[in-house]
Amino acid sequence: MSLQLRLVFYPLFLSLSFSLSAAWYQDKQGIMGTNIQVEVWSDDVQLGQQATQAVMVEMERINQLMSPYIASSELSILNENAAQRPVKVSKELFELIALSIELSKETQGAFDITFASVGYLYDYRQQHKPSEEQVSSLLEAINFRHLLLDSQQQTIFYQHPKVKIDLGGIAKGHAVDNAIAILQAMGIQHALVTAGGDTRLLGDRRGKPWMVGIRDPRHADKQAVILPLADIALSTSGDYERYFEQDGQRYHHILSPKSGHSSYEVQSVSIIGPSSTLNDALSTAVFVLGVQQGMDLLNRTPGYDGIIVDNQRKLHYSEDLAQR
Ligand code: ADP
Ligand code: MG
Repeated sequence: MSLQLRLVFYPLFLSLSFSLSAAWYQDKQGIMGTNIQVEVWSDDVQLGQQATQAVMVEMERINQLMSPYIASSELSILNENAAQRPVKVSKELFELIALSIELSKETQGAFDITFASVGYLYDYRQQHKPSEEQVSSLLEAINFRHLLLDSQQQTIFYQHPKVKIDLGGIAKGHAVDNAIAILQAMGIQHALVTAGGDTRLLGDRRGKPWMVGIRDPRHADKQAVILPLADIALSTSGDYERYFEQDGQRYHHILSPKSGHSSYEVQSVSIIGPSSTLNDALSTAVFVLGVQQGMDLLNRTPGYDGIIVDNQRKLHYSEDLAQR
């Protein structure tokens, strides 16, 4: 009798414990100078917690590798030495820089990691900007063609003495893609990972789409657009992320490589596509290109769509989105 009871109750007990721990597991932390958010669905407490933790560990790993503010980062060491001699870097950094150069070519130079040759002189927190003399003397250092990559040796050489690079326009997207790959390898099927303006979704929100908002560039608490999305990524670049105002002018963190000054044609750009890395770079590139050239770029890039809020606060949709 007791044996039979156990047989009957055992599966019942199992299914009860299964449904009790099936839940959304979440975490939020400040890493890479931005807000990192992760949400995963798991039917196992341990896996759920391990998964959110693994995402944060990956974000911190990339921060230590690519931050220009950490003197020991691979990026800082590269900037320190690559104008004197070719510097050997990790495969990961080499490939992200190589991809960045490809994207410079695809975007007529709008996306250019050598923007930092001038960009490093801005300190948005301290409200500091370079003088006009500094900008004009360093402007020629902004040019991705100064970067000489040797894929055999995995080295990078700066062919101009004043070049600096910064991966702020692509590293967060890369981190989000890596985080999603880690979650997938752990068997997670429903997740959201956000790093600042870069979000990627794994699956849906269990039978429902994820509702992802694009904020109003001038009102942090208002949404300009809300999109139902699943299994895709979305990145937004905005002139409100890092900026200060002086003499009625907004000095913000997205610079036109041609002028060395902030780009003013639009207030925000959101890109929807499968790769968070590409969305991140494209949102920055389209921001610099402006409405007409930016939309032309998106309309000839299969799989990538965009929404622009221009400087008159008017919304523009790329062709595929406008037709929906
Ligand atoms: P965030 O999510 O921080 O708003 P964005 O995708 O909007 O990032 O990119 C802005 C960042 O990109 C800047 O903080 C800077 O590091 C970098 N950046 C600025 N201008 C350019 C440019 N023309 N090309 C490549 N990167 C840029
Ligand atoms: Mg970007």
